[in-house]
Amino acid sequence: MQTTIRSAVTFQGVGLHSGQPARMTIRPAMAEHGIWFKRTDILLGDALVPARWDSVEVTPLCTRIVNQAGVAISTIEHVMAALAGCGVHNALIEIDGPEVPILDGSAAPFVRGIMARGVRALHAPVHAIEILEPVAVYTAKGWARLSPARPDEGLTMDFHIDFADAAIGTQDKSLSLANGTFVRELCDSRTFCRQADVDAMQANGLALGGTYENAVVVDGDKVLSPGGLRHSDEAVRHKMLDALGDLFTAGAPIIGHYEGHKAGHGITNMLLHELFANPDAYRLVACDDELSARLPGAGVERDEIPAVA
Ligand SMILES: [Zn+2]
Repeated sequence: MQTTIRSAVTFQGVGLHSGQPARMTIRPAMAEHGIWFKRTDILLGDALVPARWDSVEVTPLCTRIVNQAGVAISTIEHVMAALAGCGVHNALIEIDGPEVPILDGSAAPFVRGIMARGVRALHAPVHAIEILEPVAVYTAKGWARLSPARPDEGLTMDFHIDFADAAIGTQDKSLSLANGTFVRELCDSRTFCRQADVDAMQANGLALGGTYENAVVVDGDKVLSPGGLRHSDEAVRHKMLDALGDLFTAGAPIIGHYEGHKAGHGITNMLLHELFANPDAYRLVACDDELSARLPGAGVERDEIPAVA
């Protein structure tokens, strides 16, 4: 069955790039509603923005959605990952500013808030997007591919990153995102960047809300953030978290195998455009119990949320 959050939950903090404070509330919604954002600080005109692939405006550093009136919300990817990973299919997310609070830079605070309220089943089946034919996007920076699911699997992911800084270096990870894997393995991994990039971003009016607490900052072989890493491969785990959140803008859970090779928000969004431009590459399937049990939100237990932040 489709689900929604059982009751509203509020988060407050600054946006990573804008540095602007915002108060954000995830509210329950009906079946077939999907995930929508609403800017409560915009009183004239259309303040609703669907968290959908075709509303995503490509930005290099975050996933930003914008509606036809030009109303936008930035950095939706971590809360989207939390909703996908906890199996919440329908929600209205009210926010009184231009950017989702970064909190600790991971999705763990969102997961903890959602799981504290719990999820409620609605009277409609979940429709998943089953990948039938491979689709891929290749760019000079990296590539991403979606292919049919492996036997008895839902969404599986392989991710590869390769950074010159020795503190990150080359990292590879493969996961099957069922049975609470997202909550156990990915949700507490924080966004990361290089000190040299921080200086360049801030000179360009970005990362204004960034601190050593809400992002892992590295410089060569050194981790500058106090307390160091939460996982030795925290960077690739965070890229998988981002990919799950970005894939959830498809509007439904994906049954398939995702590969990301130095892929970021832009490449994953291009991949969804490629998928939906190829009607033979996918089909919508109503999930029975057996298929539902393979989705990322299946089997999530509240006591498995990592005790961080
Ligand atoms: Zn991220």
